[in-house]
Amino acid sequence: MLYSMNAMSRPKQLIVGVDLGGTKISAILADDGGNIVARDLRDTQAQQGPEAVIRRIVESIKQVASGADIAGIGIGAAGTCEASTGIVASSPNLPGWRNVPLKDIIQQELGLPTYLDNDANVAVLGEYYFGAGGGIDNLIYVTVSTGIGGGLIIDGKLYRGISGSAGEIGHMTIDVNGPRCDCGNIGCWETLASGTALAREAVRRIEAEAQTSILSFAQGDIKEVSAKAVFLAAQEGDRLANDLISRTGYYVGVGLVNLVNIFNPELILIGGGLSQMGEMLLDPALRVVEERAFELPARAVRIEIARLGADAGVLGAVALFLQEKSKER
Ligand SMILES: [Zn+2]
Repeated sequence: MLYSMNAMSRPKQLIVGVDLGGTKISAILADDGGNIVARDLRDTQAQQGPEAVIRRIVESIKQVASGADIAGIGIGAAGTCEASTGIVASSPNLPGWRNVPLKDIIQQELGLPTYLDNDANVAVLGEYYFGAGGGIDNLIYVTVSTGIGGGLIIDGKLYRGISGSAGEIGHMTIDVNGPRCDCGNIGCWETLASGTALAREAVRRIEAEAQTSILSFAQGDIKEVSAKAVFLAAQEGDRLANDLISRTGYYVGVGLVNLVNIFNPELILIGGGLSQMGEMLLDPALRVVEERAFELPARAVRIEIARLGADAGVLGAVALFLQEKSKER
C-alpha cells in the first residue's frame, strides 16, 4: 500500500488524534502508519459547556503526547464543522457550542498545527488511510447508530461540498409520509433505519402485546428497550426481534440503493453501533440493493462492515491531519 511504502523510506511522524463525542473524549498518539502508541479516554461532561470541555481536550492531548515530538493534531467532532476555518458551528450533542473556533484554540494552546472536521468525514478518512477502504478512491462510509451519518471519498478525495456540510446521508428522504425526524423533516433515512428507529418500533410492538423476549433484555423496563436489547433477543432466537432487525436492514438497504445509484462507489463500509449486528442487518440490506439498484453500479459495489470499529474516530483524526498536511506540501 502507498502509505506504508512511504512510511518505510523516512522516519515516522507522531500525530495526536482526538474524537470529541457527546459523552466521551477519546485521544490517541499514533504514527503515520496508524499504529497506536498511547491512549486517553475521559468523559466529555458536555453539560459544563465549551470552555470546560476544551480544557479537558487539552489535558487529554497532553496526556497522550507526554513529551513526545508531535507533528500535529487532528480532531473529529460530533457536530456541524467548517473544516476550512476549523470552527464547530453547532452540535446536537454538545450544548452551548455555537461557532467555537476549536482548531485555533487548540493550535494556540499547544503550538502545533491542528485540523478539524466532523466525525463522519474523519471516519471515512480513517478507513481510507488505515482500514478496509485502503487505497479505494470511491468509498462511502455509513455510520448506523442512534442516527445515520456518512462520509464520501470521491476520486480519492474527501468530498465536503461548497459549505463543508456534504455527506448528511442520514437525512435523505426515504418516506415522505414517514416519522418526524429530529432535524425537522419527515421520513429521513435515520427515522427508519437507525438504532433509535429500531428501538421505537420494538416498543410499539411490545405495547401492542406482541410475543417477544425483548423486555427481558431491558431489565423488564419498556423505557430501557434499546437496539442492543433487540439484538440480544434476536441472538437468542426471538422471532419478533429477528423480524425487527430484518426490517431495519431492509430500510438500510433502501438508502444504500440511492447511494449506489448516485455515486457508483467501489466500496460502502457500514460502521457505527448497529454494524455489530453483522449479517443479521447486512443480508436484508444487500437483498434490497440487488433487487432495486441499477445493475451496472450494483455489480461493481462491495458493501461490507467497517473495520476500525470504535477507533474509526481517533484514527480518522490522525488521517485528517495527514491529508491536510499533504495538501500544504
Ligand atoms: Zn432528518
